[in-house]
Amino acid sequence: MITSCPNKACAAPQNFCRDGFFRRKDDSKMIQRYRCKTCGERFSAATFSEAFRQKRRRINGSLLKLLSSNVSQRRAAIFLGVNRKTIERRVPFLGKRCRRMNDRFLRKIAGNVHNIQIDDLITKENSKLKPLTVSIAVDEHRRSILGLEVSQIPAFGVLALPVLCFEVPSPCKACDLP
Ligand SMILES: [Zn+2]
Repeated sequence: MITSCPNKACAAPQNFCRDGFFRRKDDSKMIQRYRCKTCGERFSAATFSEAFRQKRRRINGSLLKLLSSNVSQRRAAIFLGVNRKTIERRVPFLGKRCRRMNDRFLRKIAGNVHNIQIDDLITKENSKLKPLTVSIAVDEHRRSILGLEVSQIPAFGVLALPVLCFEVPSPCKACDLP
């Protein structure tokens, strides 16, 4: 439902009228166009959509299922017949959508969670020298994720030793000893 002109500086944003249709190429939907009678801004029912200016919006639902089923971005691009960069750009968009879905879910179950299980996972970013820890809180009864936090931790183990050896210890200021 369109309620106002998208121009922030518009004097009377409610003063707009219909201005024809266009057929969106991606999903073949007919989209209503509007024109502001005050500032002359032209906009459409799609202007306020979260997928505004996406050329491959039909992949969003399938891509969310594929990525949440542990399919890689390259393989998802092959399955859906789109470029790998399209998938890469769609990940933050889907992330925001999932965050909103999770917020709605958490508001719905607020006050009805009785037992929480907390677990921790250690993984890496792109090398063992950049370890990450993923802490997760799960509702025991529903088995649904309540919260998740990714943090960086210092490197450890045999691989981290050569890095530590290269670090020159700073001398003690009090006694000039290393
Ligand atoms: Zn306007």
